[in-house]
Amino acid sequence: MSFADEKAVVVFSGGQDSTTCLFWALERFQEVSAITFDYGQRHRKELEVAAEIAEELGVDHHVLDMTLLNQLAPNALTREEIEVSEGEEGELPNTFVEGRNLLFFSFAAIAASQKGAKHVVTGVSQTDYSGYPDCRDSFVKSLNVTLNLATDKEFVLHTPLMWLDKKETWELADRLGRLSYVKEKTLTCYNGIRGEGCGECPACHLRHAGYKEYMKEKER
Ligand SMILES: [Zn+2]
Repeated sequence: MSFADEKAVVVFSGGQDSTTCLFWALERFQEVSAITFDYGQRHRKELEVAAEIAEELGVDHHVLDMTLLNQLAPNALTREEIEVSEGEEGELPNTFVEGRNLLFFSFAAIAASQKGAKHVVTGVSQTDYSGYPDCRDSFVKSLNVTLNLATDKEFVLHTPLMWLDKKETWELADRLGRLSYVKEKTLTCYNGIRGEGCGECPACHLRHAGYKEYMKEKER
């Protein structure tokens, strides 16, 4: 599939997944821009990292104020007093913000439309979705239809990581020739530590386990 003459907007947080998606999009589309949502993240560093990566890659970058989300639904990603926890079996982790992707992807599509772009790329994954309902493929497909009905446009929501686990996401970064860039420059850690991270939080556990698994497979 090639969209060489078309424009895309990538929903971008400066993390492993969305940075890999950014590289994925840069390989496919003639013009790529990135959009980052400021929803009052505890770690403002996330916004800095996103801006830095976008600048380094020469990608047009916009930060949209979505701090309203924090008024609606305070959670562990935005409130210092709520500690990040993984949640019990069958329970949603407390980093879950209800309807976040519904809002983010809708805003991203409207922003894309303003830029004359019909492609919106997001790093959601059903494989690692931790029970977040709005990371599921059926949700994204349904929203795609809804957006097109709402605007009479022909948006295409792309989810290159939908069926990949963390190991395969590292593999994709490697295939795009960007493994070490993603490893060193991105920020996934809930404690705001770039690259290697704190090694202790749920996000670091997932990221490290996937990397280790990929390296093991690669050496074989
Ligand atoms: Zn961490």
